[in-house]
Amino acid sequence: TKQLHIIGGGLAGSEAAWQAAQAGVPVVLHEMRPVRGTDAHKTDSLAELVCSNSFRSDDAQANAVGLLHAEMRLAGSLIMNSADLNQVPAGGALAVDRDGFAAAVTAKLEAHPLITIMREEVTGLPPEEWQQAIIATGPLTAPSLAEAIAEKTGADALAFFDAIAPIVHFDTIDMDTCWFQSRYDKVGPGGTGKDYINCPMDKEQYEAFIQALIDGGKTEFKQWEGTPYFDGCLPIEVMAERGPETARHGPMKPMGLTNAHNPDVKAYAVVQLRQDNALGTLYNMVGFQTKLKHAEQVRIFRMIPGLENADFARLGGLHRNTYINSPTLLDATLQLKGRTGLRFAGQITGCEGYVESAAIGLLTGRFAAAELLGQQVSPPPVTTAFGALLNHITGGHIVSDDEPGKRSFQPMNVNFGLFPAVEAPKSEGKRLRGKDKIVAKRHAITSRALTDCRDWLGIAAEAQAAE
Ligand code: FAD
Repeated sequence: TKQLHIIGGGLAGSEAAWQAAQAGVPVVLHEMRPVRGTDAHKTDSLAELVCSNSFRSDDAQANAVGLLHAEMRLAGSLIMNSADLNQVPAGGALAVDRDGFAAAVTAKLEAHPLITIMREEVTGLPPEEWQQAIIATGPLTAPSLAEAIAEKTGADALAFFDAIAPIVHFDTIDMDTCWFQSRYDKVGPGGTGKDYINCPMDKEQYEAFIQALIDGGKTEFKQWEGTPYFDGCLPIEVMAERGPETARHGPMKPMGLTNAHNPDVKAYAVVQLRQDNALGTLYNMVGFQTKLKHAEQVRIFRMIPGLENADFARLGGLHRNTYINSPTLLDATLQLKGRTGLRFAGQITGCEGYVESAAIGLLTGRFAAAELLGQQVSPPPVTTAFGALLNHITGGHIVSDDEPGKRSFQPMNVNFGLFPAVEAPKSEGKRLRGKDKIVAKRHAITSRALTDCRDWLGIAAEAQAAE
């Protein structure tokens, strides 16, 4: 029978299932939760967000992930649609109520007439009789499948660390000390300019806090020693160890914030919390991923002014994150070389982030569906965010002689560095300089991307003009 089997109902697998089914292909989606859990997932919902509730910037003109959002919306993305319907205020970012979001994705997939959801663990590579299959089992792929993949690909597993930040109950935050304000009062979609809770520290408090982070008891990961951190997700105590000023120039920077209770005194450092659910009862600590022991987290984070009595809905943690060496293993349509009809999607391909994982799921779902329908499989052009990300995963790498493809391939968020360069547009015949030049170049990249993406999707020019 001509059906597509998808293993893993996370961000990538859910989007892949939706895209293939919308193209008219019957899909069987195999998700192991709740039969078997992972170290990070807490529910049995499809597309559960394991850490932050943010899809990052929604600015399609000046930000690469915002552009990816826009392209996904053009392609009828279920993940983006469900995110848009479950937004919570977050400045210029797109953040969601995680339960509402996952419930929306689950309901849509369950209701689709072409999708069957099987709650079961797949313990080995897809059997040959599954003509078309996608492995979208994510960074926490269950061990027996992970072993089977490693055996088949022959490549040694690549890995890095990923961390989770704590979540606090709003009613335990002291709002006589903290105040609501977005940095530089930025007003994003659905936002008010007051989307974050800010906890101020003076110099003495900051120094004592950094010292406590350095001295705090950490969970040891002996068997994973030597595994690097993903730079965008550095634990706060590792940041503290890198130097006393590092956190103050990172997540604890005081810029663009004025203490509503004490406007004349500039905070030396600020801890920010972002709304985590639609009800506004939970807030997550921005940039506070950690591998401190749980009791130490409670003790040290209660040193933060305003969090003295904080009650934590979830504490932070650290996980190993496994991915395959895609540039050497996969072809340009994410198919495993030497095994026709077996594709990979999501974080396991070496992309990074919810949005990127879902975007790669979107592409893989379309490629597999086209193959089953006997249509030509055509990857998106590299000038689009889809194509730029795909190209990062499947090609275009500097390969070192001793370890082909290995050292050079690191998971990465979508960014402007992955797009082919553009000439900076001129303003009134003059060449632009500095920041103006960067802004103009980004706009040129993003408008080229959206035009090319519409062409690739076959969205007619009339529809473009009507927008
Ligand atoms: P997942 O969303 O993890 O989906 C994989 C699914 O496959 C799961 O539902 C799992 O239960 C299922 N599965 C696994 N093995 C099997 C099997 N053998 N049979 C059947 N089902 C199986 N990204 C961000 O953008 N922001 C963050 O804050 C963030 N924090 C992260 C924190 C941690 C601890 C980790 C590990 C990752 C984090 N990421 C974050 C990175 C990444 O974007 C997410 O992990 C994302 O969910 C990846 O999407 P995915 O679909 O590839 O995998």
